[in-house]
Amino acid sequence: MTRYIFVTGGVMSGIGKGIATASIASLLEERGYNTTAVKIDPYINVDAGTMNPVEHGEVFVTEDGLECDQDIGNYERFLHKNILKANYMTTGLVYKTVIENERALKYDGKCVEVVPHIPEEVIRRIKLAGKKSKADFVLIEIGGTIGEYQNILYLEAGRMLKIQNPGAVIFVIVSYLPVPSSLGEMKTKPTQYAVRTLNSAGLQPDIIIARSSSPIDEPRKKKLSVFCNVAAEDIISAPDVKSIYEVPINFERDQLTQRILKKFGIAARKNGHTPWVKLLKKISLAKKEVKIGIVGKYFDTGKFVLKDSYISVIEAIKHAAWSLNLKPEIQWINALDYETKPRLVKELKEYAGLIVPGGFGSRAVEGKIKAINFARENKIPFLGLCYGMQLATVEFARNAAKLAKAHTTEINPKTPHPVIHILPEQEKNLEKGDLGGSMRLGAYRCRLAKDTIAQKAYGKNLISERHRHRYEVNNSYRAKLEKAGLTFSGLNPDRNLVEIIELRNHPFFVGTQFHPELKSRPFEPHPLFVEFVKAASKSKK
Ligand code: GLN
Repeated sequence: MTRYIFVTGGVMSGIGKGIATASIASLLEERGYNTTAVKIDPYINVDAGTMNPVEHGEVFVTEDGLECDQDIGNYERFLHKNILKANYMTTGLVYKTVIENERALKYDGKCVEVVPHIPEEVIRRIKLAGKKSKADFVLIEIGGTIGEYQNILYLEAGRMLKIQNPGAVIFVIVSYLPVPSSLGEMKTKPTQYAVRTLNSAGLQPDIIIARSSSPIDEPRKKKLSVFCNVAAEDIISAPDVKSIYEVPINFERDQLTQRILKKFGIAARKNGHTPWVKLLKKISLAKKEVKIGIVGKYFDTGKFVLKDSYISVIEAIKHAAWSLNLKPEIQWINALDYETKPRLVKELKEYAGLIVPGGFGSRAVEGKIKAINFARENKIPFLGLCYGMQLATVEFARNAAKLAKAHTTEINPKTPHPVIHILPEQEKNLEKGDLGGSMRLGAYRCRLAKDTIAQKAYGKNLISERHRHRYEVNNSYRAKLEKAGLTFSGLNPDRNLVEIIELRNHPFFVGTQFHPELKSRPFEPHPLFVEFVKAASKSKK
């Protein structure tokens, strides 16, 4: 029997609903239940691939090649397993399926209506995700907050699923309790309203997760209990934490797993041993700092700085650093500054290691290339991810192989030296204007060359990593670049595409066409990140 836990959000977004969902899933796993998590995004976009990271955060990519929300990355990191395509849906995708079904006469001549056909398709997808991962529990996180017009059909799906499966569905609301500085008191009213909104959709929360700057106290628990119709024991304290990996431990302080199992009338299959306690201990013991700079461009929204765009990169640095007993100090560097004020690039010598992550388009490209040049010439450990690798190839071509004006055709289609050019099948996609979900996506194999940094890091010859790109290294320049000292240490064995570049006379200079950050996990740091952080820690004493 599969059981379903819907996780909704109240009051405001960005309070850690994804981490709460991932944490509950990991706690149920620890109690011996096979668990998976589904993310629902209420957008018309068919997947997350067409959204700018500044709008929507990082675009995560699954093994089977879906561009999805960053929360899928959180689920993978907390559950320590791959989450596949079936576990993500958007409003656009759901509608697309229903419309395609209608065109294929799959509704037997019925009038196809928003209700029930849309929620039924949502339910079909939720069940499919559970079936594919043979889950005892499926957590379903509904993006955004309740009360948003675009979420109603998902709440409706939850309500219908509950009627169909009595005793097998519960609802959790992750809500925010502000402590206005002018009052100095935690306020419960916004959460009361949020619960009432859920009630008006025909749903009653079984559990309230009370997010706030500090733990919720007894008087406020009682108040919420009375006004929201939820037992005080089912109100779980969720104060701000330093590390997201503290969240499951905090939940257990209020016995969340036990409360959930009780609602379903079942017992734990084994006693959770909470690997998170061990991880937190490791984090707290890491004292020696290593300062890593991420040179990117998806940071600003008005006056605020976002780091969500590079969440997997940030997590991968942390995982690697902790595994080496180091304390990562991560800073965001806006590459645009090096275009307007090139002399600023010297500030990069303060960093023990530099990462240029993935990206698209021309904005800040020359700034990134300046940063890469600085890292190469000043022997600062460097890791280039996807676009970072392509731009490292451009920099090397221009300045080391003396191919002046070398570029990627993504930016300059007329460059005399197109060292990075479009993949043949991608050219057709661009011509057709087929730009959604059409990149080279998901896991592909890569063969590593003997005696290279890459091969030593992985400790094997054949690996598989996740991709998201349209452009690649132009094979007709390989000989020239090799002659100038660039090593192609990883190639795709099926199509002879360059997957990894590196430099020999440098403490650590590696670029990957794939995104290693997507596969890093807290208990299984990625080998390339580990070697990079190790080199960084040696570069600055
Ligand atoms: N814009 C580059 C490409 O499409 C790199 C993509 C990326 O960094 N994910 O190939």
